[in-house]
Amino acid sequence: MPARPDAPGGPSRTATTLGVPAVRPSDQTAPLPLQLAPRRRGKPPRHFADLGPEERVASLVALGEKPFRAKQLATHYFTHFTSDPADMTDLPKSTRETIATTMFPPLIRETRRMEADGGTTVKTLWHLFDEAKVESVLMRYPNRTTLCVSSQAGCGMACPFCATGQLGLTRNLSTAEIVEQVRAAARSLAQGEIPGGAARLNNLVFMGMGEPLANYKAVIETVRTLVAPQPEGLGMSARNITVSTVGLVPAMRKLADEGIPVTLALSLHAPDDDLRSELVPINTRWSVDEALDAARHYFEVTGRRVSIEYALIKDMNDHGWRADLLGEKLNARGKGWVHVNPIPLNPTPGSIWTASDRAVEDEFVARLRGHGIPTTIRDTRGSDIDGACGQLAAEEDDE
Ligand code: SAH
Repeated sequence: MPARPDAPGGPSRTATTLGVPAVRPSDQTAPLPLQLAPRRRGKPPRHFADLGPEERVASLVALGEKPFRAKQLATHYFTHFTSDPADMTDLPKSTRETIATTMFPPLIRETRRMEADGGTTVKTLWHLFDEAKVESVLMRYPNRTTLCVSSQAGCGMACPFCATGQLGLTRNLSTAEIVEQVRAAARSLAQGEIPGGAARLNNLVFMGMGEPLANYKAVIETVRTLVAPQPEGLGMSARNITVSTVGLVPAMRKLADEGIPVTLALSLHAPDDDLRSELVPINTRWSVDEALDAARHYFEVTGRRVSIEYALIKDMNDHGWRADLLGEKLNARGKGWVHVNPIPLNPTPGSIWTASDRAVEDEFVARLRGHGIPTTIRDTRGSDIDGACGQLAAEEDDE
């Protein structure tokens, strides 16, 4: 796949010469190149959550254990959210430690936790085995809980309005590194750590750091594990899992064929190729029409209504005619298959862009509704702790 050529006068950095993640371009208008291959290839240790049910049995047998231990471990991990050998009192004391340390190597370490909304929004910074960093955000609402997970350390998609996009891609996460973020949140909720009493995790969104469909295998394995009934998995409903993508068309089509009806969200941000190629550089590879066709295909195969995400950026993409063009392009592909989620732009460091004015936002929404498109402004939580959409940069030195 061709990377987007740098703009005239822009940095001529390539994937191999890209600077350390903390470095941001001082000039917001100089676009980063797309980066499709990770800089780092080190693999995290293999973990219980990387394995399917049969592989779990095989691993335990290889340790000299009885096959039924796999189910015991799965119950500890997916029902009680623990990997601590001290909790595993149904395992023989002599082998408890060995089993636990072999099957549950520590993969993610909490190094910082920030709270907002009276403790009901929690952003956690995790260090991985190689000191790569990712963040996850847990949001508790009156009637549901949602976790936003990271699927990559950094991101290679280079969207200029997204803090993660400015980091470049460090590496893909393994399945277990993603599942561990989920387990930690589920445990925190189950133990009543989030104000409002003990609760279950209802929703999961792949809207943290990274482009989930660029780490396809780990993401789909994570989804399989999350929807597998307890004790083999977390027993979540596929429709409560949202995979958000910049529009990697072949992967969107592949996802449609998996037979797991997760919700698909397409980060569109502009209905015309000229602007979208600037805001979402992968558009130079797959155009607006190709991305929308793949989204429509997803609906046809799965029956799941697709979400279109649209960050409203003042004087960039918030014009009435763009709302009309978006409405027309969506209607040209049928009715009832899609809804639009405008998101007021969240500020990111160094960015010259701001959110659209309220009146402009209202007009944009009204125009889409005028075309018969269900449209709801995304409630973005956590912007005061840089935990909202597009603000995850895994920083720890700004305390
Ligand atoms: N890479 C995936 C998922 C991560 S981002 C994707 O792009 O879809 C989740 C959503 O937040 C995307 O729609 C993304 O475009 C949006 N987003 C990024 N930066 C933002 C910002 N500064 N303000 C509002 N939304 C933003």
